[in-house]
Amino acid sequence: MGKSLFDKIWERHEVASGLLYIDLHLVHEVTSPQAFDGLRLNGRKVRRPDRTLATADHNTPTDGTPRAALIKDELSRVQVETLEKNAAEFGIPIYSLGSEGQGIVHVIGPELGVTQPGMTIVCGDSHTATHGAFGALSFGIGTSEVEHVLATQTLVQSKPKSMRIRYEGEPGFGVTAKDLILYTIGQMGTAGAAGYVVEYAGPAIEALSMEGRMTICNMTIEGGGRAGMIAPDQTTFDYVTGRPAAPSEVPPEWRELFSDPDAGFDKELVIDCTKISPMVSWGTNPAMVAPVSDKVPVAASEQDERALEYMGLSGGTPIEQIKLDRVFIGSCTNSRIGDLRTAAEVVRGRKVADNVYAMVVPGSVKVKAAAEAEGLDKVFREAGFDWRAAGCSMCLGMNPDIAAPGERVASTSNRNFEGRQGRGARTHLVSPQMAAAAAIEGHFVDIRTWSN
Ligand code: SF4
Repeated sequence: MGKSLFDKIWERHEVASGLLYIDLHLVHEVTSPQAFDGLRLNGRKVRRPDRTLATADHNTPTDGTPRAALIKDELSRVQVETLEKNAAEFGIPIYSLGSEGQGIVHVIGPELGVTQPGMTIVCGDSHTATHGAFGALSFGIGTSEVEHVLATQTLVQSKPKSMRIRYEGEPGFGVTAKDLILYTIGQMGTAGAAGYVVEYAGPAIEALSMEGRMTICNMTIEGGGRAGMIAPDQTTFDYVTGRPAAPSEVPPEWRELFSDPDAGFDKELVIDCTKISPMVSWGTNPAMVAPVSDKVPVAASEQDERALEYMGLSGGTPIEQIKLDRVFIGSCTNSRIGDLRTAAEVVRGRKVADNVYAMVVPGSVKVKAAAEAEGLDKVFREAGFDWRAAGCSMCLGMNPDIAAPGERVASTSNRNFEGRQGRGARTHLVSPQMAAAAAIEGHFVDIRTWSN
């Protein structure tokens, strides 16, 4: 039997049974302080500082605060300053506030070219699966594992099972990568890929840009997957080569990174793209989704009832009638330049509805600069959006960008759990285009038929 992409990368990195060599360790301020303390207590060094990269993102303010020392919130300031001190002490490159390389950890890795096909990549953040879009095997890890990787450059890991999701048929107009993955999670549930490394395949995946592929892989964890990956192809090679930390030519071994035609998978799922509409989440997990043209479902379980109550929704309400208070375009799911371009096209020449506060948070300082060079900031500002500085922002309630209790948010992020965007905040997961159109109308609209 042939080998899958996952098998090939696993075999190349398993240095002892259940022990993986890690090519790249990405570090941020929230899950690393105790890990560095552990190293100090045990008198250990970072094994490969040259294979480790730190950035500040989770609790950095997005108001343009230029230095860690000026962060107003004490806990956040201490965490970012601690990351800076730890990076200096252990010799790790860092992109903190004020640096041109700063940004969300899963945005800057690909941007710098440190994320490369065939690598094993870890980070103390669940959405590390994002890097799998490049044909890398990437895991989110916990704080004790962060310490282990810092000290040894290896990760203890028993081999997960493998799963392939094949996308057949062509997605219709207005259906984006975000809709593909929200629909998929809606179909298989939040445990549908539990314990599996998922390979996404098929013509609709191959047709996606790298940014679309990152959106898909990013949300693997929301379907329970351990990691998500996509075989690298010319689209990948064109994106990676020539970036600051990447080779200028495609190394021959990158061209071997695909699943053999007779590779076996423990589980397979086929998704018919022709059935997918632009999606909106209505509940409190990412499987609670519906087409924008549909209605909020009637509760079929206690879990549904609780979700509808938290979300302040009644079954049978047309999704397009859901009014919004806030719109957030950002997060490591949808804050790259391509995401901002598509959202800007929707808002160009239009105005944000009076009932909505809308914000755009670029994923990195470089994304922000690129968008400003193209005049996208002007498009958003003229429409009434708040144009912010890079960071995780409203993806999680860990920095000043939070929604008030009861506020309803159209969000391009990846999680809609209770309280994720602030205590009592109500999150609807959508694509950047959907978020942009909702900001203009003040409620959800079907972007396939929308005219403003
Ligand atoms: S944007 Fe959200 S999911 Fe992504 S790294 Fe930041 S907190 Fe994690």
